[in-house]
Amino acid sequence: MVNFAHIINDENQKEIVRGRELTDRDRISKEYFCPNENCETKLALNIKSNGENYFSASYDDFDHIKYCWAKSKYANQVILPPKDKNINDFLNSLSKSESRKSEKSKSEKNDMDDNVTHRRMSTLKDIFYYCKSHNKENNFGDTKIKYMFLDSRTKNMYTKFIYEGTKVVIGDSILPFNPKDEMFKIKYNNKFYFKINFINSSVFNKCYKKLNLKGRNLKDVNVMVLGDWKRSGNNTLVTCIKNSKQFLDISSFISD
Ligand SMILES: [Zn+2]
Repeated sequence: MVNFAHIINDENQKEIVRGRELTDRDRISKEYFCPNENCETKLALNIKSNGENYFSASYDDFDHIKYCWAKSKYANQVILPPKDKNINDFLNSLSKSESRKSEKSKSEKNDMDDNVTHRRMSTLKDIFYYCKSHNKENNFGDTKIKYMFLDSRTKNMYTKFIYEGTKVVIGDSILPFNPKDEMFKIKYNNKFYFKINFINSSVFNKCYKKLNLKGRNLKDVNVMVLGDWKRSGNNTLVTCIKNSKQFLDISSFISD
């Protein structure tokens, strides 16, 4: 159940409100609407004793649209993509070469942003939640999710061929590797391999550290990789990672 909604404030503007900031008194004093701007159905505020208040489409004749992302189990983690920014620019910004100084100031800024309710989409994890909560036929920027976010939902599509280009891939497993080689190969759909090279040892080591391999079998490790993929043989695509932000171990929060 989604734990945020929008209201129309005194200035006649849409404003996002969080369920946990509201009380029983707010249940009838305001009207709440689905935060999906393509849906905006009227929602009811449900007050829970533990404070985990949420919104539901429980009014008669007010349903979410089909595939509304606010119905998804990932809805509460969704951050909407920046409207004033091209999505490819955003993806490219995650793939920029790391420079030590700017990296530090940036990560400090992100830590601060985490405490802000409406922080901007800024990480691979944000892309994960956005794409998982939306239907694969929906767009992420100008591109349909199914063409740029390869996960379990798109496996039937990709049985013979995968186009080159900027895509996020969720691998089923990592192939055995020697850390000295500073590269991984991940398997997708039993048919394709994605080879991940790293621009230097520093970026490799940061990504390697993100993998908590203690007590885990490599074949159960799901990683998410953003890359500009190029073909290398019939069933392999290859990329070179320039920034550790392009790489994430998602085994702990993926559930399908
Ligand atoms: Zn909705």
